Amino acid sequence: MTENGTPIRARRVTPAARALALVSALAIAAADGPAPQPARAQERVTTGLPIIRDSEIEQLLRDYVTPILKAAGLAQQNIRVVILNDRGFNAFVMDGRHIFINAGALFDAKTPNEVIGVFAHETGHLAGGHLMKLRERLAEAQTQSIVAMLLGVGAIVAGARAGGSGGQIGSAAITAPQSIIQHSLLAYVRTQEDQADHAGVKFLTMTHQSASGMLTLFKRLASDTLYSGRYADPYLQTHPFPADRAATLEQLAKSSPYWDAKDPPALQLRHDMMRAKLSGFLERPETVLRRYPLSNTSLPARYARAISTYRHGDLRAAIALIDGLIQTEPNNPYFHELKGQALLEGGHSADAIAPLRRAVAVSHQAPLIEMLLAQALVATDRKTYADEAVGLLNSALRREPEAPGAYDQLAMAYGQKGDLAHADLASAQAAFARGDVKTARQLASRAKTRLPVGSPAWVRADDIVTVKMPSSNQH
Ligand SMILES: [Zn+2]
Repeated sequence: MTENGTPIRARRVTPAARALALVSALAIAAADGPAPQPARAQERVTTGLPIIRDSEIEQLLRDYVTPILKAAGLAQQNIRVVILNDRGFNAFVMDGRHIFINAGALFDAKTPNEVIGVFAHETGHLAGGHLMKLRERLAEAQTQSIVAMLLGVGAIVAGARAGGSGGQIGSAAITAPQSIIQHSLLAYVRTQEDQADHAGVKFLTMTHQSASGMLTLFKRLASDTLYSGRYADPYLQTHPFPADRAATLEQLAKSSPYWDAKDPPALQLRHDMMRAKLSGFLERPETVLRRYPLSNTSLPARYARAISTYRHGDLRAAIALIDGLIQTEPNNPYFHELKGQALLEGGHSADAIAPLRRAVAVSHQAPLIEMLLAQALVATDRKTYADEAVGLLNSALRREPEAPGAYDQLAMAYGQKGDLAHADLASAQAAFARGDVKTARQLASRAKTRLPVGSPAWVRADDIVTVKMPSSNQH
């Protein structure tokens, strides 16, 4: 598990994450929902966000969401679930291609059905084209002041949830004349929320799943809102959306013939493993031990403790715990991956290679694990490994073309081979993936002078040199 391809460090709040919290907050007020967003920021909404990447969790979430997308007729849209490294409870959509969910929401969900319920609701927004409709609404109302006002509402809610620190800013942003527009927009968003609930229950029923998890989560959210109510705008206090929405949803959910349907035990175990992994990677060792005390010898508890030990403690002790997990499930690719990651981050790159090769094989070439193996090979600085690393990285990048860290590794691997032209091209691609178009162009221009004119690599370099610069980067 990594954050944007690098080892997860202490939680940092980036300006982008803060802005996102504000923009998505109207959503929270109505128990999530679509976040209004300036149209210009659409190209690559994920840039700059603290994104958790993990093969095991991503595969599980794909397994959760795929049947729902299919039921909604959206299976062909290539919609991806993106996990944000944020402890707060939230899930939302900002464009037509991603469903965002916070690690906190995944951790809070006790069953697969709860997460699947959230995905069903978000898919309801996507299927209903709600983002487009909301943007039209905002455009109609000649937006600038309204967007500012919405951000004000967001600041109140976000501030209330963060303990009130942002409350004052939010209050200041809402002035009396705007309140009428505000109420009408909130009412409009509320309608979209009801529609997303209805659609969500429909998709769950179509896939023979219960909406009880969705209900549980929204109820939990309603009590959170109540708890933070003393900081909130009086309008929000007198109109407790989530509570009465929960009542409508409850009636709807219980009318389904699948109300009593349960998650398959194997899926529940994978879910518990995900929560254990999130705890091990993101929580302090004391917290991990409190949740998963030594007396708990279940696989998830052993997983959480093994991860926490490698993250905060003794590498040798961690490897012993991970070897114990491997002994229990020799073909679990993520145990081998964990062993490799622990050794690599502990500075034992050569020792990491064997477990990571095994992980790549049993995961059927999961691209993120291929990248990790390549990283270990490159870190040994042995020329004999460079070709294998190049092959792995090119294979992984075909499926994950926006991973800047993998292009960096590719540049190093080509450098170890003495192939400076391809090293320049890979560095250019890394800069481009990070949004640094200026550096990308300089490196790509240099790569072009070293590559045979018209070769595939030359064409890729030329694409970067001639790409139109986004207006925000022009200076
Ligand atoms: Zn919603």
